[in-house]
Amino acid sequence: MKIDVCKWYGDADSPVLFWIDDLANTWVDVSGSGEIELGEDWGYAKHGENSSFDYLEQKLLSRHPNIKTTFFVPVGKRSGVVADSSIKVISEAINSDEETKAFFRNISENPKFEMAYHGTTHGIAGERTEDFVQEWSTFGSLEEALETIETGKRIFNEVFGHYPKGGKYCGYDPGKYGDESIDRSGFFWWCRHSNVDLVEYGDSEHGGSDKNPLTSYDIKIFGKNNVIDIPTTICGHMLNRYLNKDERIIKGTVKRLLRRQLIEKEMKKIDYLIKNKLLISIEEHISPARNDGRSQLLNIFDDLKGLNEIFDYISGKNIWYCTGSELAEYYYCRENSVIEQSGNEFVVKFKSENVELSSKYLSLKVEGGSVEKLILPDGKEVSKTNGVFNVEIMDGVYKTT
Ligand SMILES: [Zn+2]
Repeated sequence: MKIDVCKWYGDADSPVLFWIDDLANTWVDVSGSGEIELGEDWGYAKHGENSSFDYLEQKLLSRHPNIKTTFFVPVGKRSGVVADSSIKVISEAINSDEETKAFFRNISENPKFEMAYHGTTHGIAGERTEDFVQEWSTFGSLEEALETIETGKRIFNEVFGHYPKGGKYCGYDPGKYGDESIDRSGFFWWCRHSNVDLVEYGDSEHGGSDKNPLTSYDIKIFGKNNVIDIPTTICGHMLNRYLNKDERIIKGTVKRLLRRQLIEKEMKKIDYLIKNKLLISIEEHISPARNDGRSQLLNIFDDLKGLNEIFDYISGKNIWYCTGSELAEYYYCRENSVIEQSGNEFVVKFKSENVELSSKYLSLKVEGGSVEKLILPDGKEVSKTNGVFNVEIMDGVYKTT
């Protein structure tokens, strides 16, 4: 009998994470109507008319009920892209009033969602779009970075009842003190890089120094505290150029077939990740609305068709939908467990360094001995799912039958 710990939960080929940036207490009144129009809301509308969160649920998540979404939340007054604009930005912190707090907290209490940290204001706007300084680049010292994170964490805790486990740099920009500030602030996981273009172009604008896709599309760790580093690997708009073009460019049966082929070619990137057991982490924003007259790239409104195609495509694959923390916790359990076998029994030696985990699971592949069931140390029996045993880590002896 041979026991192996699976790379991912349930022996999936790839974990699938849906990353949504910038759910915030913000409304950008692009139309100037004084009413929230569709696409102008970043979270300020809550579940009211033209709510972007409701749009996401109705147009995408209800069609793919297994998706797990991780929201990256700027907890303070999210800044406009430019300082001075005729387009009004209405923005408050997520703890500004009870109704707002309840909106954010209710989302976080649904196990399909996770709230993660994404700074306080997202940064400081200047005269022109190019002058915008991303939050971590505004810090003049490590102390300033740490203090701001502590302020942000307090707001987060006030709203959600716990501190954030993970988060992401604004604009993937760590500034001078980014990694050190995250390492010292008690984060369990973080998203530092976006490696979306690495396979196609050999480089990615916000990618790390590692140009090898086999390692850069996988989990890494950084800092003295081994913060778990989960990169972004897929842009949610990757199919737009084939789907959103007007029909003058693509019309007629032949051209529609060509379009299908082009989409299939694009999906090869996802096939590559699945084939190599790498991460599928799909990036989006909750709204396109900005105050500089431009549209925010990667938003659920412009990318809806493509996102539906992507999630349809992967739904038939051997994948694991998870949040950032669920992925990080499985990784942590996997990396810190050793199976010690003796005959038809075994124990799991698990060393945890003061890390609080909401669940401790391993997926075990047992080969030989035609094992049908595992009996856990607490007497519970576990049968196979997808050919493997998903077991809780506990002290004591695991038996096979
Ligand atoms: Zn952001």
